[in-house]
This record gives sequence, C-alpha cells and structure tokens, in this order.
Amino acid sequence: MFDRKTIDSALSGSTLTTAQDSPFDYSPEAMLPQVKVLKIGGQSVLDRGRAAVFPILDELVRAKDQYQLLLCCGGGTRARHIYSVASDLELPTGLLAALGGYVPRQNARMLQMLLAKHGGLYIMTDDFEKLPLYFKLGCIPIMTGMPPFGYWEKPHEGGNIPQHRTDAGVFLTAEVLGVKRAIFVKDEDGLYEDDPKKNKEAKLLRRVGARELLARDLPDLAVERVVIEYLTRARFCHELQIVNGLVPGQLTKALAGEDVGSIIYKDT
Ligand code: ADP
Ligand code: MG
Repeated sequence: MFDRKTIDSALSGSTLTTAQDSPFDYSPEAMLPQVKVLKIGGQSVLDRGRAAVFPILDELVRAKDQYQLLLCCGGGTRARHIYSVASDLELPTGLLAALGGYVPRQNARMLQMLLAKHGGLYIMTDDFEKLPLYFKLGCIPIMTGMPPFGYWEKPHEGGNIPQHRTDAGVFLTAEVLGVKRAIFVKDEDGLYEDDPKKNKEAKLLRRVGARELLARDLPDLAVERVVIEYLTRARFCHELQIVNGLVPGQLTKALAGEDVGSIIYKDT
C-alpha cells in the first residue's frame, strides 16, 4: 500500500476543483482600504499631452498630503497601434497583451519623472507590500495599469484584443488592496448611454448598477466590459467612478469622496 504523507488541513485530499462549497467561512480583511486607486487614462488623458496632463498633476500634488494616492497608467493610442499591427500579423492574444503592456509602463515612467520632485515613485505591479512604507515617506507610487497576465492572457470569444487591459488592472488592484472605489480619470463627464464623441444625443448615466449595465448591453462603454462583469462578484471594490480630468476641480472632488461623474456600483 502506498501511503501519502499529507499534512492535515481542510483542503488535504481535495482536488480544489470540486463542485462543493468552500469549507471556509471566508470574510477577507481589507489590506489598505484608505488608498485612492486612480487610473490616469492613456488615450483619454496622457495622449493629450501637457494641456491635459499638467492640470491633473497639479490637482494630484495639491491632494497628495491629504490622501494616499496610487496612480495607475493607461496605454492609449500607441497600445492600439501595436494591437493593430500584431493583429494584422495574426499574432496570438497573449503576445498582444505582452506587447500592449509596454506602453502603459512608458506612460508610468513619464508620469514618475514629472512627479519626481513631489515623491513620484515608479513601482512594479507586485510591489504592493511596499506601499505602506512608500506612503509613510510621502511618496506617490505610480505603476502600469496593465495586469501582468501578458502571455497568459485568457482567450475569449470576442476577438484577439486582450480583454484585460488597464481598466481591468486598476479594478483588480483596488480589489486586492481592499479599496471600495476605483477612480478612472478620463476625458468625458462619466458613462453615457453611448460614446459621446460619436453620439451627441447620448445621455449621461450618473449612477448605474453593474448587472443593470450588463443587461442594457450598451453599444460602447468607457471602461472594459470585463470590469463590469467582475464588479458583480467583487468582495471589496464595489464602485467605479468615472470622472472628467479635463474639467478643473472634478478630480479633487472625486478624491474628497464626492459623487462627481458617474458611479457604476455592485448591485446585488
Ligand atoms: P482610457 O485612455 O482611459 O483607457 P478610453 O479611450 O479607452 O480611455 O475610453 C474612454 C473613452 O471611451 C472616452 O473618451 C469616450 O469617447 C469613449 N466612450 C465609449 N463609450 C462610452 C460611453 N458609453 N460613455 C462614455 N464614454 C464612452
Ligand atoms: Mg481604454
């Protein structure tokens, strides 16, 4: 008889794929719930250059001693360019995700340089354990918004563009840190019923539930669709706030907890 030398635990002998409910009464602790997790849009903000970026940085610098800010960068037009070239070359999704990941890192490095004298600090996606120290030192940690799936990006039915891009990374960052609201700084006043750049009649949705939004199946969204799906099963990050970084003061109000822009919330 072959005897397995197992360590006794609630999961020993389990395949971890059983259909049964988890044996744990799981109520996770929020690690850093006070942190403000912000996405600085790639195409919507950074690609617009100094006219858009400098006033936003001014607001962030004014707020930095009051709040713990974690900045995550979007990719934008250069990421779209590599997706389009790589798609034309029929390269796989995992490679697109790996390549697309370089652009938000470039953006994060630029933002770090601009904020260096105010404590801007470039961090890696797995530097979360250092955040308490960085905040204590008065730093503004800045990282890519792209989740590190890279070559391991999951296949999906809707084409070859990676589904998990920088909005997803920002949401997942807020979720793991235990932050209730993730703030997306973009270039429109919030979420509309359609892309306001293409449809001037589109109405602004001030508050909308994630399930309700999925059911409405709008023609276009201001955040990646997977994020809305994940929001329905989030444990901590229960709200996405989309604000217009081009409107002076709107980001400052969002940092103060005001419901400016649009809120997409976890509806049960
Ligand atoms: P980012 O650079 O932050 O990733 P994106 O360009 O990917 O931003 O997404 C923001 C853009 O989404 C807005 O500039 C807007 O034109 C477009 N958009 C599409 N659908 C909507 C919608 N329903 N509501 C608001 N904006 C939308
Ligand atoms: Mg985007």
